[in-house]
Amino acid sequence: MLAWTVDDGSDSDVIRRYVDFARTSGTRLTFFLNGSYPGWSEHAALLQPLVTSGQIQLGNHTWSHADLTSLSDTGIVSELQRNHDFIVSTFGVDPRPYYRPPFGYRDARTDAAAASIGYTSPVMWYGSLADSSPRSEQQIIDLATEWFLPAHIIIGHLNFPAVTQVFGQLRQLITDRGLITVTLDDIFAR
Ligand SMILES: [Zn+2]
Repeated sequence: MLAWTVDDGSDSDVIRRYVDFARTSGTRLTFFLNGSYPGWSEHAALLQPLVTSGQIQLGNHTWSHADLTSLSDTGIVSELQRNHDFIVSTFGVDPRPYYRPPFGYRDARTDAAAASIGYTSPVMWYGSLADSSPRSEQQIIDLATEWFLPAHIIIGHLNFPAVTQVFGQLRQLITDRGLITVTLDDIFAR
């Protein structure tokens, strides 16, 4: 099983292409989204059926991609709550208890503040497509070849179009390795 998670959403068209990829390939994904990016509202109708069916799970990545360790406890709660409210009102699902701290920055204090509003499971990763900044198509294929392995949580990003040009190769890798894609809810009981 492979948990392919994808974050942010700064490029609206990449969101659309990822949703199309999921729909046509059956790939199960978890999106850790920042509601401050307009693409989430723009493509809400496209995404909704996949969220409703559970094929794409939504997790909280804060409203504006804030470094939680730089915020007060009140600020941490505010960033998570605003994004939580956006996800609930837009998609009708409750992302708790899963959230991903932006940049992976967290400590005991940020964990406690998040847990105070039900976000008890910070989700890190073990393997990255490293495309939070621009990468070439070949770099993404190479990283997928390195990291698409059983029992791995992979992180990718909805920020730059290169990954959308290699969906076919990534999907083939999953098939060739006999992997099954899973969301967090597929693996962990709430
Ligand atoms: Zn992020």
